[in-house]
Amino acid sequence: MVNKLSFDELYPQFDQPIISSVDCGQECAPYNENGVPFCCDTQHSIPAAYQSEWCYLQARTDLWHLWQPPDAELSEELRAQTPDDMLLIECLGSRYCQRDYRSIACRAFPFFPYSTQAGQFIGISYYWEYEDRCWMINHLDRVDEIYRQQFVVAFETLFNAFPQERQNFAAYSADMRMNFAQQRRFIPLLHRNGKAYKITPSNERMRLCAPSDFLKFEPYSIVAQLLFPDEL
Ligand code: SF4
Ligand code: SF4
Repeated sequence: MVNKLSFDELYPQFDQPIISSVDCGQECAPYNENGVPFCCDTQHSIPAAYQSEWCYLQARTDLWHLWQPPDAELSEELRAQTPDDMLLIECLGSRYCQRDYRSIACRAFPFFPYSTQAGQFIGISYYWEYEDRCWMINHLDRVDEIYRQQFVVAFETLFNAFPQERQNFAAYSADMRMNFAQQRRFIPLLHRNGKAYKITPSNERMRLCAPSDFLKFEPYSIVAQLLFPDEL
């Protein structure tokens, strides 16, 4: 049975920052030419909202509007990548952020629910195209444990309300396996059991690891080499 979703309930249940000791937006923004965190800049990432989420937000805040594509080609391309029941939206900008009215896409970024080939949602991985921009992807060892738990519960709730979403993310996970197999790379996973694993994409073998073992990417890999241990 599909449960009706209440964003009034879901948003407060998925409200923990990814990291509590620093504002990760302050860490990545200096690397964006306009000084805005990458995930709050529609030149880099356009949030998608569920239809019912869009109705919820519209009734409560003027923070959001529908994203206006700069040209027809980009519009068509992104529309094709967006599930039918979702809309592309844009906020007024990072200076006007209203924490309580961040979309689910804002709260989840840069992560998505990773599923095995058998369709089991086992934990969190990330949108790999942002490896060179997102500071958080480069600091997976600092993801807050409560955030991880809230992420899992939030997506179980979403999958219950929107069963198609489970399949969408399973398909995205399969894409990641194919892409990483071609690159001969392991998939980093923050498991829902609280541990971290490296997944071999070709056979889904999981190896336990420390989250600090995960790769870093430029420019953050270079910065990490320059830091003294007490600055990490
Ligand atoms: S999630 Fe990534 S891109 Fe978004 S503000 Fe944090 S470090 Fe920047
Ligand atoms: S609502 Fe806040 S977190 Fe979401 S894109 Fe806008 S500024 Fe960023």
